[in-house]
Amino acid sequence: MKNYHINTKCIQEGYAPKNGESRVLPIYQSTTYKYDSSEHVGKLFDLEEEGFFYTRLANPTVDCVERKIAALEGGIGAMCTSSGQAASLIAILNICGSGDHMISSAAIYGGTTNLFAVTLKKLGVEVTFVDPEASEEELQKAFKENTKLIFAETLANPALVVTDIEKFATIAHKNGVPLIIDNTFATPINCRPFEFGADIVVHSTSKYMDGHAVALGGVIVDSGNFDWDNGKFPGLSTPDESYHGMIYTQACGRSAYIVKARVQLMRDLGSSPSPNSAFLLNLGLETLHLRMERHCSNALTVAKWLEANDKIAWVNYPGLKSNKYYNLAQKYMPNGTCGVISFGVKGGREAAVKLMDNLKLAAIVVHVADARTSVLHPASTTHRQLTDEQLVSAGVAPDLIRMSIGIEYVEDIITDIEQALEQL
Ligand SMILES: *Cc1c(COP(=O)(O)O)cnc(C)c1O
Repeated sequence: MKNYHINTKCIQEGYAPKNGESRVLPIYQSTTYKYDSSEHVGKLFDLEEEGFFYTRLANPTVDCVERKIAALEGGIGAMCTSSGQAASLIAILNICGSGDHMISSAAIYGGTTNLFAVTLKKLGVEVTFVDPEASEEELQKAFKENTKLIFAETLANPALVVTDIEKFATIAHKNGVPLIIDNTFATPINCRPFEFGADIVVHSTSKYMDGHAVALGGVIVDSGNFDWDNGKFPGLSTPDESYHGMIYTQACGRSAYIVKARVQLMRDLGSSPSPNSAFLLNLGLETLHLRMERHCSNALTVAKWLEANDKIAWVNYPGLKSNKYYNLAQKYMPNGTCGVISFGVKGGREAAVKLMDNLKLAAIVVHVADARTSVLHPASTTHRQLTDEQLVSAGVAPDLIRMSIGIEYVEDIITDIEQALEQL
């Protein structure tokens, strides 16, 4: 389906029913699959034949959604996971283990910061956090002999820092390592990081891709462009004894990374999505292009309204001309960024909490990026595990209100904020 526009791919990619088959993607609610001979099953286990044998590794419903997401990102393959956290973890562990080092932008999701600074550290992976605005020379200083990858978010949650993907990709490739980009907030509708040199993309599909806050999920997408045979990634270029000495780069070519993630790490870690969740994710993806357009136009309208209101201290939205990331956003996301904005209200932390409590339409929820407008105070919730220093380097001010603008009628969203501000 290469020739279709991405909007068409949202609807049509992944599942192609044959004559007389279900028009809609069926839910294969089955853990297992029947075969006629044990010889055939043995070949499946040895990866000599393709086919489904256990849903921990692959499932026909999930498979269709993976094909759709790979097509949307322009990758050669994808693997869905049970959550975005699992996607980030597996994407990294696939090429980086005890004794290795990785570099991450400091402006990332709070849960990812914890994963890197706490759990990866315990697993023996050392992480250096860098300022996303650092120059190439400064970034170069963070590299070590055992550095295996760089990680960043297209549009950081919740700081809304726009990452200069080309800068990160250039420095990664100079050092023989891949760039992994978390593209959750932009979605492939607004940015396709592979077009700017990223090698691997991860998502929390729990956000815009699902879009309705119904199913937790994640996905890893492989561009197929990185050459893993450069001596730095023995896990991919030397024999895997758990598959009779198979060498991924030789047996799988451009798909080496995504095949290993599935047949080795998903096999062993088991953070698989449920077929039912994959079905719901697919429903969300079918309208992703429509929803992103409305999320972005609503968010820009609200951001402009807030900017003009004298009870508001500051507004952060990369779609605003006054924003320091405006030019980068225009380069990487010319059609819009996302529906999330952040702002501070005059009166600081206390006023922020009051304003949020006054809102009627917008609800306080620990989630972003679904159809309903919601608000959150990261410093006292999602980011409360971070020290003040980490908060600042993650771009989270203590008075920051994160507002996820939904796809309601925009005047109703503004009226709600207006009445909440009047009560302050
Ligand atoms: C939510 C989120 C995650 C984690 O995803 P879960 O599905 O909640 O596990 C990772 N990265 C970003 C940018 C997120 O917004």
